[in-house]
Amino acid sequence: MDFNQIRLGLFLGIFFLLLLLESFVQKHPTVDSKPRRLGINLSLTAVNVILLRLVFGGAAVGAAYFTSERGWGLLNYLDLPAWLELGMTVAFLDFMIYLQHVLVHMIPFFWRFHVVHHSDLDLDVSSGFRFHPLEILGSMLYKIGLILALGPSPFAVVVFEAVLNGMAQFTHSNIPLPEKLDAALRRIFVTPDMHRIHHSVEVAETNSNYGFNLSIWDRMLGTYIVQAKKPQPEIVIGVGAYRRPEQTTFLGLLTMPLHDTAQADARTQ
Ligand SMILES: [Zn+2]
Ligand SMILES: [Zn+2]
Repeated sequence: MDFNQIRLGLFLGIFFLLLLLESFVQKHPTVDSKPRRLGINLSLTAVNVILLRLVFGGAAVGAAYFTSERGWGLLNYLDLPAWLELGMTVAFLDFMIYLQHVLVHMIPFFWRFHVVHHSDLDLDVSSGFRFHPLEILGSMLYKIGLILALGPSPFAVVVFEAVLNGMAQFTHSNIPLPEKLDAALRRIFVTPDMHRIHHSVEVAETNSNYGFNLSIWDRMLGTYIVQAKKPQPEIVIGVGAYRRPEQTTFLGLLTMPLHDTAQADARTQ
């Protein structure tokens, strides 16, 4: 079994488990059709997976092999134990994609693409992969640059990608976690309730809780909101410019960066 098979198995296992849980018991009431949204989000996921394969192949792990063989990158200079290198890689990459997330909210040109992710009117396990293909390609280029500078082991990169993939599904899922468990997890990790606030139509709430895996960056840099203005089940999910399902068809999402509304709705603090 190679890395790709393990990754696919993990993805499918987590996806169907969360999908099943969500269908039994939901945290947040839905406003859009679930089959419609699943069809759109999964079609977008398929396009993104195929595009990543075609353009980059296994380039993120490939970049890690490249730096390991040549002794390039910060971590290849420091001779750290494997467990510490793994921890540093996961934390460093998580912090850097937190910063990237802040930037795609603040820079109007990038928001045109990122708004596709925020235009989902409900959140569920499939929302975690709803990104415009060009944002996905840009993110991969950024990640390869980070890996070349850091020089982590290929294993650490595979672990980071698997964690990010599993957490994207978990943090977007509509499962109700007991409040105490949510509070305990949130000390370190991002939870579905924490990320739902990031998907609120309220601008101040959209511009908060940027974290993907660890909640500590939001706390440290002052972008953390514990609770939305409204109670969790009443949070209105989405963005002001795209309230109607007919605006967010599959084709509508692909062409969204061209819309003037995307620009008008750019979020600046
Ligand atoms: Zn965002
Ligand atoms: Zn999200």
